[in-house]
Amino acid sequence: MTALRLIASCALLLGLALSLAPPAAACGADTPCLTSTGRYLVRLPLGTRRQIARQAARALNPGAESLALPDGAPYGAVVVDTGSCTLCLSCVSLCPSGALGDNPDLPQLRFQEDACLQCGLCANLCPEDAISYAPRMLLTPEALEQRVLNEEEPFPCIECGKPFGVKSTIERITEKLSAHSMFGGDKLRMIQMCDDCRVNAQYHSDSNPFAMGGPRRPRTTDDYLSKRRDH
Ligand code: SF4
Ligand code: SF4
Repeated sequence: MTALRLIASCALLLGLALSLAPPAAACGADTPCLTSTGRYLVRLPLGTRRQIARQAARALNPGAESLALPDGAPYGAVVVDTGSCTLCLSCVSLCPSGALGDNPDLPQLRFQEDACLQCGLCANLCPEDAISYAPRMLLTPEALEQRVLNEEEPFPCIECGKPFGVKSTIERITEKLSAHSMFGGDKLRMIQMCDDCRVNAQYHSDSNPFAMGGPRRPRTTDDYLSKRRDH
């Protein structure tokens, strides 16, 4: 029997034990009530299945901070190798439960353990193989908080100073492309510019990709008549 099944069974037994409890002197938050039909009303914990499982595990393991679970269990932590992670945030966009998140103001990878299903998508997707899993049920309030798995300094645009990317990544790309024939001159500098400044620099460059020439002259009746042979 897996640890999860054990938790579910214990929760069931706990509920059964409460429903068979003798009549309480006073009906309260922790005591069953005897109704006029001779049945006991038992207060059941509210919440999602995962929240109830966490409550049951906490009730059955007072004082425990974490329960070890086997590989493949749907509860656990995501472990990120910060030396490999480039903060591309691909894992954030794919995470189905919102356990992984970003910070709109800083290059950060955040994680809330309670929401993680250990589905394996983020590890499969990560281009740097930086993700591994630690199956467990964390019983402390930390499981409900967002914690930072990796963070770096933002890179300031060399034109306007606006932070727009991860410093180490921009520096690495600049270094790798510095010897590339297609990134000579200003083109290498454009890698270090934010979106707005890059478009502006491209527009004013010698090889402007947006150059279209003058506006097209509208066709008139004279154009059509000039092609008729009976005139
Ligand atoms: S863990 Fe992988 S997918 Fe997620 S931000 Fe880091 S490199 Fe990108
Ligand atoms: S294992 Fe699944 S649920 Fe957990 S962080 Fe990765 S993608 Fe999200």
